[in-house]
Amino acid sequence: MQPRPALTMRHTPASDAANSLQMHLLRGAEVLSRTRDLRSIFRTTAETAMHFLDGSYCLLFAVRFTPPDLTVGLLGCCVSDGTDTYWDDVCDGQSWLPVDPLLADCLHTDHGHAVMHEGDTWRLAFAVGALGEARWVLEIHSHRKPQVADCQGLSLFLRCFENQHQAWEYANLDTLTRLLNRKTFDDDFERLIAAAELAEQASQEPAERRTHSPSITQPCWLGVVDIDHFKKINDNYGHLFGDEVLLRVADLMRQSFRNHDKLFRFGGEEFVVMLRNVAEDNVQSIFDRFRIAVEDHDFPRVGQVRCSVGYSRIDPRLSPAELLGRADEALYYSKEHGRNQVNGFDELIMSGKLRITIPAGQAQIQSDIDEIFL
Ligand code: GH3
Ligand code: MG
Ligand code: MG
Repeated sequence: MQPRPALTMRHTPASDAANSLQMHLLRGAEVLSRTRDLRSIFRTTAETAMHFLDGSYCLLFAVRFTPPDLTVGLLGCCVSDGTDTYWDDVCDGQSWLPVDPLLADCLHTDHGHAVMHEGDTWRLAFAVGALGEARWVLEIHSHRKPQVADCQGLSLFLRCFENQHQAWEYANLDTLTRLLNRKTFDDDFERLIAAAELAEQASQEPAERRTHSPSITQPCWLGVVDIDHFKKINDNYGHLFGDEVLLRVADLMRQSFRNHDKLFRFGGEEFVVMLRNVAEDNVQSIFDRFRIAVEDHDFPRVGQVRCSVGYSRIDPRLSPAELLGRADEALYYSKEHGRNQVNGFDELIMSGKLRITIPAGQAQIQSDIDEIFL
């Protein structure tokens, strides 16, 4: 029998470079598959894509389609100086902008990407998600002319991002309201405490000694929201209309609070709000604005729904259980004094309306807190 000829690979500098870029894309997909944190998922995606296309910078947008308006909100951007890449989360003050022609193009084509040549730069845009239902757009600026195979490879990589994001949502969002679920509370709470510590340091440091302007200078707050007489809504109109109330309240929360405030569905008809960087003088009116939005909303079939709120200032020296307990005491006070109102723990203590200890069994969500933290 004749020996079979050995398989040989032809190496050229160009094919080596292409292989190395493909390896980078594969490595990015592997990192993505074990990334659990949302911000890291965005970052890994943008950095991998930018490196793959030799980009100088890259922008990741969320897409919002509220007919007839198609808008995008910046989630983060990635910049390269040739050797290092820098990622910047743009979580604060996300505003929705109309899409430019390139982004509109990629959102309307079957293959989900569009390319534009401007001067010596190639601008590429990739839609992530099915045609007409894309949820993100990635825009990359590169000096290298992209090949068809590059675009196809990157589109496949972006499918990995989409899958990973789906897994993140499954683990972290409440299935009914799409707010954050209780499981994610611990991690977010740690970040809130860190932000509160930053604000405290900034407030103690004399302005003339500051070497940089701190991003967080005002306190952070924790609010607990509970729908009033929700059981009656279920009893009178049925669970489906009860669920619709929960959905609408969640939407009103998204509209009333800012994008970077964290909103949780904590249990049946109880919600938790984390506010960061809010001056003490404004916090009561922020929660009241939401309470009034609920009161003014016309809920299908049910009509008017009201809610009560209790909140506490985040003191980094206290445990999460103590802080939630404080907001909960303020909520309990709101419930006991006529419902449909907002109360802050410190104000209740200062005015002598509340004493520090909670009578056993009276806390609205104390058992939830114990389950999580004890
Ligand atoms: P209060 O004003 O004191 O808060 O009274 P309430 O009736 O709102 O509070 P209570 O704790 O007595 O009742 C809460 C009800 O919420 C009981 C439960 O059946 C209902 N519930 C919990 N989860 C869900 C859900 O996912 N969907 C619906 N429709 N109802 C739920
Ligand atoms: Mg209730
Ligand atoms: Mg309740």
